[in-house]
Amino acid sequence: MIKTAVILAAGLGSRLRPYTDTQPKGFLQIYEGNPSLIELSIEALQKNGITNIIIGTGYCRSYYEDLAKGIPNVTCIHSPKYASTGSLETLMQIYPHILGEDILLLESDLLYDYNGIRELIWHCEPNVVLASNPTNSKDEVYIEITDSSNLINLSKNITELKSIYGELVGISKLSASLLDSIYKIYNENSEWTKWDYENALVALAHQNIFVHKIPQYTWCEIDNEEHLEFARKTIYPRIQLLRDLPKRDILLNPGPATTSTAVKYAQIQPDICPREETFGDVMRFVATELTRFVANNEHYSTVLFPGSGTAAVEAILTSVIKNRDTLLIVHNGAYGKRMQEICDTYSINYVMYDSPYTKALDYNDLEKFILINRHITHVALVHNETTTGLLNDLSIVGDICHKNNLTFIVDAMSSYAAIPIDMPTQNIHFLAASSNKNIQGMAGIGFVITNKNSLEQCKNHKRKSYYLDLYAQYDYFNKTGQSRFTPPVQTFYALQQAIIEAKNEGIINRYQRYKESWEVLITGLKELNLEWVIPLEHHSKIITAIYEPDNKKFNFTEMHDELFSKGFTIYPGKVGNLSTFRIANIGDINKNDMQNFIKALKAYFNKISE
Ligand SMILES: *Cc1c(COP(=O)(O)O)cnc(C)c1O
Repeated sequence: MIKTAVILAAGLGSRLRPYTDTQPKGFLQIYEGNPSLIELSIEALQKNGITNIIIGTGYCRSYYEDLAKGIPNVTCIHSPKYASTGSLETLMQIYPHILGEDILLLESDLLYDYNGIRELIWHCEPNVVLASNPTNSKDEVYIEITDSSNLINLSKNITELKSIYGELVGISKLSASLLDSIYKIYNENSEWTKWDYENALVALAHQNIFVHKIPQYTWCEIDNEEHLEFARKTIYPRIQLLRDLPKRDILLNPGPATTSTAVKYAQIQPDICPREETFGDVMRFVATELTRFVANNEHYSTVLFPGSGTAAVEAILTSVIKNRDTLLIVHNGAYGKRMQEICDTYSINYVMYDSPYTKALDYNDLEKFILINRHITHVALVHNETTTGLLNDLSIVGDICHKNNLTFIVDAMSSYAAIPIDMPTQNIHFLAASSNKNIQGMAGIGFVITNKNSLEQCKNHKRKSYYLDLYAQYDYFNKTGQSRFTPPVQTFYALQQAIIEAKNEGIINRYQRYKESWEVLITGLKELNLEWVIPLEHHSKIITAIYEPDNKKFNFTEMHDELFSKGFTIYPGKVGNLSTFRIANIGDINKNDMQNFIKALKAYFNKISE
């Protein structure tokens, strides 16, 4: 892990007069009395685990030196020729003090979102420059890259580049070996005095310097009055919000999943009584859009319950199956078993169809079973068995139900909003899911998407549960625009934001992103000689049950704790008497996060195979 950061702060800042008449650019305060740029930067670095900060000084050096006296682990190194040289000279003055170290390199006049630092530190490539979409600051350094996102060229002049990938932010991660190479060309080249560090990066681009682009990155450089105005209006307020963010942990458990910053913040709202009409609008939006992901709002409707996903499953089973009915539970994982336990609790009639946890269903055999047991009226199936990652085929079972006039109930908790589902064509009457898995919201809302006709038929059923009464919840909301009982207000705001993000991304693209992380996972498992339970052709590519290795030193709890300390949460197994553990690849994460996880996993396995 990177521990050292270098801030290049020697420049004169002449374009920002009169602010820089008597002080260097880094001491600029966006508003008087607020922290200066350099103080914000130091805070960002320290919050991300950087313990050694070196400021390269020049113009008005005493400002930085006084500041450094008051902050532990911050030191200054002076660049005597700062007035006549470029930023490379300053970096090279610092070089002897950072021999053998990887560093973060920053410019002193940046105002930026702290998450950029985190993404660079955790990036799996050793040399990375941070980029964004062009900001229109009129002082952009544009970037040209190779097909594999490596740096080719940097220039302020568009005509010097073949194509423009983005704008250079001014925050980079440089490996010790790249720094050695920079030192070498600095010594060899007599032109160096004019160079900025960017020139050295371009000269060494053949050594693979990855360009990591965060398209909508919140940042700006402050070089003139106009930039300062932009910083005040647009960037600073956003950064003020982002500054207080909790550290980002990567959840690789099968829900709750990692959420976006916007989803976390969506929970912060003025207090509101949920019986107000404006809150009814939030719930209506949520219900309508949740339906739209898998069906149409004409014939289908979403019924929302406060509670986890199991509440939604329990609401269906207790509300839909009458005393004369018989439910067939397809059981090939722990969540099928859970439905059996719910039925036992409420004395709901059921028969089990047991199938191995580790193999695809035999659909012909399932159909035969249904034909023999003519008293079956309903079929319940788990779409993605979260126990293992075994994917059951909704279309085939939906067809069987359709042919035999059976009501089809699906627990789609861990597939909804990632694996495309179409309730009308797949003949699904009731589907259960929750707010905290692939929809990427906060935990606390279980929901049932129902075919309205099928739900109307439950109107006069004798209720088994008072609270989880599907028809009553549906009917009350339709009539009043309110929830029967107090809903989790803040969780609804988060879910509203999560839905907007899911719509923006699109379900197919989301599944594609998940699958890319999964491919990285599977490649890493192969390299570690670890085997997974479900054959690839029946795999949901969302959660993977992995056999524990045949190594006496292996200990799940130790592995969990070590990974947890590095910011990754993994999950124990649940496959009968097999020794497994599980890794999910859902939520607001990408393949880069998964690559970093694999790195951490390899470190654990290296340790136990010594
Ligand atoms: C997560 C999940 C549930 C619900 O679990 P809760 O802890 O109640 O949220 C139900 N079924 C499946 C298949 C799941 O993955």
